[in-house]
Amino acid sequence: MEELRAKKGFICDMDGVIYWGGRLLPGVKEFVDWLYRENKEFLFLTNNSGQTPLELRLKLKTMGLDIDERHFYTSALATAKFVSEQTHHCSAYVIGEPGLVGALYQCGVAITDKEPDYVIVGESPNYNYEAICKAVTLVRGGAKLIGTNSDLTGPSSRGIIPACRALISPIEMATGKQAYFIGKPNPLMMRTGLRLLGVHSEEAAMIGDRMDTDIIGGVESGLDPILVLSGVTSRDEIDQFPYRPRLVLNNIGEIAD
Ligand SMILES: [Mg+2]
Repeated sequence: MEELRAKKGFICDMDGVIYWGGRLLPGVKEFVDWLYRENKEFLFLTNNSGQTPLELRLKLKTMGLDIDERHFYTSALATAKFVSEQTHHCSAYVIGEPGLVGALYQCGVAITDKEPDYVIVGESPNYNYEAICKAVTLVRGGAKLIGTNSDLTGPSSRGIIPACRALISPIEMATGKQAYFIGKPNPLMMRTGLRLLGVHSEEAAMIGDRMDTDIIGGVESGLDPILVLSGVTSRDEIDQFPYRPRLVLNNIGEIAD
């Protein structure tokens, strides 16, 4: 724990670490106060591509936590950065929410359904049959298929719902093309996070509630992976994975105690 507290940078997953449903988890306020008090660098990282940093800020504000926009990094921002660096002045057909479209615009990516360089899929309640048919035609025509994140399912107020990898799979099956996924556990996202914080991987910790995204992402990027039990993983599930967290905590507030 002392080693963890001495780290310079903290990359924290949000769902299951900071909040659950619409409520802040126990100890989060104390942890954030501690981050500010100790002058730590920190980033809240989410595979959710639907919301902009401003929207995430407002969401946390309604839960009583005020955190500047620069502390949020989403799979939408990482996806926009990736495609715009891979292909200058590129274009994309997008199935996704304003958070994803806005991030692409900000990186100079043109949104079009006419011969785009990429078909980019994020989670969206507006996902529909027409859009899938369009995407299939474009990928068969040569557009590269990108998913914002490789989550198969996610939590919602009505229970488990399909997430990006489940939504993109009809396009993969109909085209025979495999999508490339950007969000956690792709080390791309963690490495960009470290660069934004200005710290080296050995000086940082990755705190998350999922073994298959957060903990593996931390392991593969060289950050100390810290598992919190306030989200989807229970203590007896840890042994089912070939990699281990450095430390297991009941909640993120224990760091501040
Ligand atoms: Mg989570």
